[in-house]
Amino acid sequence: MTKISLQQRLASAEPLFSIEFFPPKSDAAAEQLLSTAADLQAYAPDFVSITYGAGGSTRSRTLKYARQLAQDYHYTVMPHLTCVGHSREDLQGIIQEFKKAGLNQIMALRGDPPKGEADFKAHPAGLHYANELVELIRDNFAECTIGVGGYPEKHPEAPSLEVDLLKLKRKVDAGAHFVTTQLFFDNSRYFAFVEAARAIGIQVPILPGLMTPTTLPQARRFCQMGDSFLPPELASALEAVGEDSAKGTRIGLEWSFQQARELLEKGAPGLHFYILNRTNPTAALLDRLKLAGFYQS
Ligand SMILES: Cc1cc2nc3c(=O)[nH]c(=O)nc-3n(C[C@H](O)[C@H](O)[C@H](O)COP(=O)(O)OP(=O)(O)OC[C@H]3O[C@@H](n4cnc5c(N)ncnc54)[C@H](O)[C@@H]3O)c2cc1C
Repeated sequence: MTKISLQQRLASAEPLFSIEFFPPKSDAAAEQLLSTAADLQAYAPDFVSITYGAGGSTRSRTLKYARQLAQDYHYTVMPHLTCVGHSREDLQGIIQEFKKAGLNQIMALRGDPPKGEADFKAHPAGLHYANELVELIRDNFAECTIGVGGYPEKHPEAPSLEVDLLKLKRKVDAGAHFVTTQLFFDNSRYFAFVEAARAIGIQVPILPGLMTPTTLPQARRFCQMGDSFLPPELASALEAVGEDSAKGTRIGLEWSFQQARELLEKGAPGLHFYILNRTNPTAALLDRLKLAGFYQS
């Protein structure tokens, strides 16, 4: 059977499900990634993505695991690529490596400044913003499906959501086929973001990013990283169970399930799961979504 392309999937009315991995830094972490990849095969996500680390430090690891996930686990794999520390020529070379490996989809990002640096500084012969990377991919790899990042609660550096949305539009106008959002815990922010995006002519699918929190410190850390709102009901429910991670996971799962249900019922084009390279709680969430008729695999 011919595999349906990601662009065909994006155009279909059926919700799309995707999972994000990050490249491991140790043998133990690699084992965990691969065992999670094996566990989640049963859920047949439409694609899996694999992140790209600061300063280009994971260039070879991102490619290695992207290849492995595609070849050994038969996933449709979307490697991420950032502009950090790379010249335009480097980036062209990496795009060619992805192309040669048959990885026909790329998540195009500017990237964050390397650890210890406050501001993003482009490589002297490099790119300044993700819209330029989208153009570079489009011009060098025409058949590639391109994803870009979106921020329902505004990118931390942007002066306002309105300005940030205009920058998102530049990425889409440059050729991005879809947007994956930063994680959020309050759906109203996603719905308002999608409405504002549509109002300025952004028509591509905007895939909501979900993460199931399991402890309060973890939820706080992720909200801090992305300047995301942590709803007080979620924070106090997690606080009440303290370090009991089984109870924390139950609370996080219930929250994610209700988020996912509402998102899909109100027309989100699918869900993207930030899984931190772990099978659970995402597998448990997918089981629940399946039981409730929201997910077929
Ligand atoms: C789904 C997703 C996946 C991610 N994966 C990774 C990853 O694998 N590796 C990693 O290091 N980071 C990753 N990130 C984080 C991301 O790299 C950071 O949020 C980074 O700070 C911004 O990247 P961007 O592509 O959104 O940048 P851009 O879209 O370039 O935006 C960066 C800032 O500049 C502004 N801006 C954008 N374009 C212009 C322009 N043309 N002129 C003036 N201002 C502009 C925007 O408003 C924003 O404030 C991911 C984020 C998301 C949402």
